[in-house]
Amino acid sequence: MARRPRRAKISKKDPEKALRNTALVTCAFCKGGGIDPYGLSPLSKCVVCHGRGTVRVQEPFETDPACEGTGLYFGSHLYCWTCRGKGVISVKSKKVN
Ligand SMILES: [Zn+2]
Ligand SMILES: [Zn+2]
Repeated sequence: MARRPRRAKISKKDPEKALRNTALVTCAFCKGGGIDPYGLSPLSKCVVCHGRGTVRVQEPFETDPACEGTGLYFGSHLYCWTCRGKGVISVKSKKVN
């Protein structure tokens, strides 16, 4: 019998498929700069995008009405909890693929 090395089945979640449904958007919290605008040090990385300047969001998405796309929690220097600082939130698709 030929031994077939079985590749691990991706049964739970297909990471590639998951990535296909996401989009890169500019981080609202740092406005794409990658630096925490309110960090203790100017070298602090943005906690939202981890210094990348962009964040990946699940599609479809829309501007977060809670922070109006600023990514900021109202009246504070914290990131918005609704969108986690991204400025956009995923919209639950009616279509279940
Ligand atoms: Zn950022
Ligand atoms: Zn928000």
